[in-house]
Amino acid sequence: METLVTPAREVPILAQADVAVVGAGLGGVCASVAAARAGARTVLVERNAFPGGVATAGLMCSVTNYLVTRTGQVVVGGLASEFLEGLVAEGGAMPDYARTGQPQIPNDPEATKRVLIGLLAEAGVTTLYGSLLSQALVDGEQVRAIVCEAKGGPFALTGAQFVDASGDLDLFRLAGARHERVGSFSTLLFRMANVDIGALVDWLEAHLESYDETADVGTSLQDTVRNWREYGVFHLPHYAGQRIPMVADAIASGDLPARFGHHAQDLWAMGMYACRAKPGTVLVNSCAFAGDDLDVRHKSECEAEGRLLVRVLADFLVARFPGFADAYLLDTATEIGSRRTGRLCGLHTLTADEYRSGQAFPDAIGRTTEIDHTSPDRRRYAQAGQIPLRCLVSERPVNVICGSGKSASTDPCGLLRGQVGCMVVGQGAGTAAALAAAEGIPVAQVDPERLRAHLAVAGVSLA
Ligand SMILES: Cc1cc2nc3c(=O)[nH]c(=O)nc-3n(C[C@H](O)[C@H](O)[C@H](O)COP(=O)(O)OP(=O)(O)OC[C@H]3O[C@@H](n4cnc5c(N)ncnc54)[C@H](O)[C@@H]3O)c2cc1C
Repeated sequence: METLVTPAREVPILAQADVAVVGAGLGGVCASVAAARAGARTVLVERNAFPGGVATAGLMCSVTNYLVTRTGQVVVGGLASEFLEGLVAEGGAMPDYARTGQPQIPNDPEATKRVLIGLLAEAGVTTLYGSLLSQALVDGEQVRAIVCEAKGGPFALTGAQFVDASGDLDLFRLAGARHERVGSFSTLLFRMANVDIGALVDWLEAHLESYDETADVGTSLQDTVRNWREYGVFHLPHYAGQRIPMVADAIASGDLPARFGHHAQDLWAMGMYACRAKPGTVLVNSCAFAGDDLDVRHKSECEAEGRLLVRVLADFLVARFPGFADAYLLDTATEIGSRRTGRLCGLHTLTADEYRSGQAFPDAIGRTTEIDHTSPDRRRYAQAGQIPLRCLVSERPVNVICGSGKSASTDPCGLLRGQVGCMVVGQGAGTAAALAAAEGIPVAQVDPERLRAHLAVAGVSLA
């Protein structure tokens, strides 16, 4: 590819922060709130016009219930719990979600935006929307400042410490940190309105063979039915679509294409999420775009294809799917949701075995559960997995920490990418950054005991 050299430019310094956070997804908001509550002057930059990232712009308005282990132990507190309780109070999610029989916590993305904005305001975080990080100014082993592009022109922020919660390692990459790019597997999510969810649940109950108990977060049909009737939440497991005869028949006959355009596949996945807080509205997760989401040409083709594809899926659902006869397409996500694009090469790489076995780490900043991919029924871990600080930091730059579970140093990549994992990572990263800023030390040198004491006071579940 041909290149050109762009001229140097003088950029105004908009703010001087103790902690500057890039990205206002769930991870970045938790990092910012944690840093500000720990006493740091905190500035958060976000390229979109609202917070939430994948959970709002990506429309992934359902939190997998990694709060609870297979045995029913609640292992997450802190900001993840505050966020979820805020959603319930805002009328955006159903209460009583901390149960092992409930795999997902579906919610209203508009309520998510309001709750996140409230948390940021209450903590005193300066939040700058419409601000895309474009440059990192590195001085020796440290990032000295970042430059963002905004509609009114570029600006700089200086900071003692930085949190990269972009989900894509944008700051780490710009600062030359060791990292690994990973191909993405993305989905354009959409919502249907006026769905008769009760009729869909009745249909599943009458067609046991159509329900896959081992897809996604393994859940019995009995729990799925009970979740809707007693608790007002519904989840059709992602990738269980082919068990449903009308989907399999439509794929076999070609009425529903197996692929669409140049990039879309897995149109049969049919993950669905709904709750009574948003009556009749169903989030649909049913396509996959494989490729590199950091390649602007690839991503643009997928965004365009996705909008056309959604019409095909919506028409299929209305024509054939139980409960959808009177439904209509409500909206599509603002952007395709990327599951992961890369991982940091951190001081420690958290493995699935370490995580699943609940290995203790002296610098653990929190814990969550995950699907146990080694168990045939794909239930959650029997015990909580611990997250060490060292999988969020790299050798250099020494004043940047990862605030997104999507891009932490884990094997496999994205081990902590569930929304709960991202919030736990964010809170740990923001707290560590605030302590490092106060002491003027590299973030990896924060005393783990001090950090854990702070997190415990903030309600994070550590053991
Ligand atoms: C299709 C799909 C389905 C999923 N299903 C589930 C599920 O069922 N349950 C579950 O718990 N999780 C699910 N996930 C995972 C989960 O939603 C995400 O991993 C999580 O929300 C990521 O949060 P985050 O804050 O770490 O990153 P993000 O949400 O990606 O937030 C990053 C933020 O940074 C901003 N940003 C990025 N680059 C820049 C830049 N250069 N400058 C300024 N701002 C920037 C972005 O706009 C965004 O707001 C799913 C993800 C996808 C994509």
